[in-house]
Amino acid sequence: MPLQEVINLAQRRGLFFPSAEIYSDNLAGFYEYGPEGTRIKHRVVQLWRRLLVEREGALEIDGSIVLPESVFRASGHLENFNDPLVYCSTCKTPYRVDKLIEEKVGHEIPEGASLEYFDQKVVELNLVCPKDKKPFERTTKFNMMMRVDVGASKGNPGYLKPESCQNIFLDFIRIWKQGRVKLPLPLAQVGKTFRNEIAPRQGLLRKREFEQMDVEIFFNPQKINEVENWDDVKDYAINVYLLSDKQVHAITCQEAVDQNIVSGKIVAYYLARTQQFGETLGIPLNTMRFRELEKEARAFYAAETWDFEVQIDDAWVELAACNYRTDHDAKTHAQQSKADLQVREEGQAERFYPHIFEISMGVDRTLLATLNAGFVKDTNDKEERIFLDIPARIAPYKVGIYPLMKKDGMSEAAYKLFQELQRMSVNAFYDESGSIGKRYARADEVGVPFGITVDYDTLKDNTVTLRERNTMEQKRVPVEALDEIFWKFSTGRKTFNDLAD
Ligand SMILES: [Zn+2]
Repeated sequence: MPLQEVINLAQRRGLFFPSAEIYSDNLAGFYEYGPEGTRIKHRVVQLWRRLLVEREGALEIDGSIVLPESVFRASGHLENFNDPLVYCSTCKTPYRVDKLIEEKVGHEIPEGASLEYFDQKVVELNLVCPKDKKPFERTTKFNMMMRVDVGASKGNPGYLKPESCQNIFLDFIRIWKQGRVKLPLPLAQVGKTFRNEIAPRQGLLRKREFEQMDVEIFFNPQKINEVENWDDVKDYAINVYLLSDKQVHAITCQEAVDQNIVSGKIVAYYLARTQQFGETLGIPLNTMRFRELEKEARAFYAAETWDFEVQIDDAWVELAACNYRTDHDAKTHAQQSKADLQVREEGQAERFYPHIFEISMGVDRTLLATLNAGFVKDTNDKEERIFLDIPARIAPYKVGIYPLMKKDGMSEAAYKLFQELQRMSVNAFYDESGSIGKRYARADEVGVPFGITVDYDTLKDNTVTLRERNTMEQKRVPVEALDEIFWKFSTGRKTFNDLAD
C-alpha cells in the first residue's frame, strides 16, 4: 500500500504531524505524536519490552540524553560521524553530495568515500545546484551530532546522543559489579537520539530527533554458541539476504549456524527474536529480511552486520541494525576513560573484554512499518473504506462505546458502560458525536478493533451490539459477558468468530 496514503491518514487523524506546525520557522525533521499515535507508539515499545527485554531476562536502563565529549571521542562519532556536504556557490543551499550523486548514478556510494572522490564526481557528472543551476563549492565534512552548551563555562560541550547504545556500554561495568548477573547479559534501553541530518525527508523515516530501542547482549566470545533457549528458535526460519547470491533465503537458525552464515548461536537467536517481533506487529513474513552488509558498508569494528529491513512500497527500509560489535566498545571506552572494563566469569581465571551483539531498532520506523502493514483501503463496496488492521494489543483502544442516539437514556447507559469497562481495565473510549456510521469509521481508521453500540434493546434487556473492525460483523451479547469476552480477547483465548451469534 503506498506509504503516502498511510502518511495522509496519519496527518488527517493526527497520529503524527510536524512539530511547531503553527509557526512558519518550524524545523524540518521534527515530529509530534498525537493522542492516538502516542498510544500506538507506547504499545509498540511495550510489546518490544515484553518480547525482547523481559522474556529474555534483559535488564533495562534509562540513561541521559546529553553525554560528554569523551564518550564520543572514544566511540569515534566526533571523528567519523559525518556526512559529505556541498554548498551552492551562489544561493548557499546545503546538499548531501552523496545523495545527489546516488540519484544520478542510481546506486549507493560506499560510506567511506573521500572528499576528493566527491569533488571528482561533481565535475564528472556536471552536478549543479538544483535551484539555480550554479556550481557547487568543494565538499566538506559535516558532523551530524548536535552539540549543546552545558553550564556557563566555555569548553565543556555536551552532545545529544546520536545513538541510544552508548550509555549501556558505559553502565555495563557498574551493573556487572553490583552482581547477581552473569554472561550472556542483555542490557536494554529506549531513548531519544539526535542526528543533524542535512536534508531530512520522508516523514518519520529520516528525522533529526527520533527514538531507538536497543538490546546490547554482552557475552564471552568463547561461548557464542551457548544459548539457553536455543531449542525455541533452532527450527525457526529467518529470511536472510546473502551477499553471495543477492537472494533472500529462509533458513532455520540451526542451518544459519551450521553453514557459518552467522558467527554463532547468539547472533541467530536474536535475529529470530527480532523477526518474530515483526510478525507479532502484523508485518508479513515475506516483507521482512536481514540484509548482510558488505565489509565497506559496515562500521569498521563490526565483525558482522545484518540490517533488519521491511519492504515499504518498492523500497527496503531499515528498521534495525544488528551488529556484532566485538570487544570494540569495552576496549575503546577503557582506553579513553582509563577505567577497568574487563570482566572475569565466576570460577574462571581469565579476564577479558566482553563482546557485544546488538539489535538497535528505530521506534518511529517500526511504528510506520506497522501502520503500513495494517493499512487497508477497501474499495469493494460502493463506498471506499479505510481501516488499520493492526493487532489488538497495539491498537490505541480496544473498544469504542457508542450510544445509537443521544436520546431516551441511551447516552447515559452507554457512558455508564464505558465507566464500568474502564474500571475493569478494558481500554475503552466513549463517542457520541455524529452518525453511528461516522463513529465506526473514525475508530476503524485508527485501528480500534471493537465497537459496542448501546440501543433501545439495551435499555430493555441489557444486551449490546459488539462490532468487529475488519469484517464489520455484529453480534448481540449480554453486558454481563463483556468482562469475560474482553479478557479472553486480550489473552488470545477467544476471537470474534468464536462468539455465538
Ligand atoms: Zn543555488
